[in-house]
Amino acid sequence: CFITLEGLDGAGKSTHVGWLVERLQQHGLAVVSTREPGGTALGEQLRQLVLSQPMNLKTETLLMFAGRCEHIETVIKPALLAGQWVVCDRFTDATYAYQGGGRELGGDRISALEQWVHADLQPDRTWLFDVPLAVARERLSRSRELDRFEREGEAFFERTRRAYHERARQHPERLRIVDSTLPIEDVRRSLAEQIDELVRA
Ligand code: C5P
Repeated sequence: CFITLEGLDGAGKSTHVGWLVERLQQHGLAVVSTREPGGTALGEQLRQLVLSQPMNLKTETLLMFAGRCEHIETVIKPALLAGQWVVCDRFTDATYAYQGGGRELGGDRISALEQWVHADLQPDRTWLFDVPLAVARERLSRSRELDRFEREGEAFFERTRRAYHERARQHPERLRIVDSTLPIEDVRRSLAEQIDELVRA
């Protein structure tokens, strides 16, 4: 089973990822926890580049997919084939949201790359941690030093959030919105129910 986590920076993904993996392990499952951009030695190097250095939007999008291709072929697919569960912090929905929406590339080019790189692989479940922009910005400002995306202005994040919601509308079965303004325990209760359901399926 392939699970991905999505959301704006500051929406609370990283608060839940460790807990989620533990919860799956409590079901006796072997779980691989990974992330994008990153997830492989090459991917982590690409992450460094992409997060630190301004670049052409096409270059940025291609690097996201270059890292993703390596990640899928060397980590995600082998794990799934071995019967392991994979939890990935961000995946292609993030490219639709950030490059497609935030940076206004639109979805068509991304869809073409998606077809090329992973037509045969989609997450079984995606949780979109959703909070209003002001909440995300407030949480982020308290947390850590910002990367170059996180320093973007409000309009960028509004477009990014809108693109995430559009993805959720297009893929209602797979992509579930989690109201991340709720207290942590409430979010976890709702996730736990869904996890139990997935494990039983
Ligand atoms: O979720 P995480 O903090 O690891 O994301 C790293 C950064 O990469 C974030 O600032 C996010 O906005 C950015 N990003 C992006 N496009 C993607 C994936 C991540 O701009 N496709």
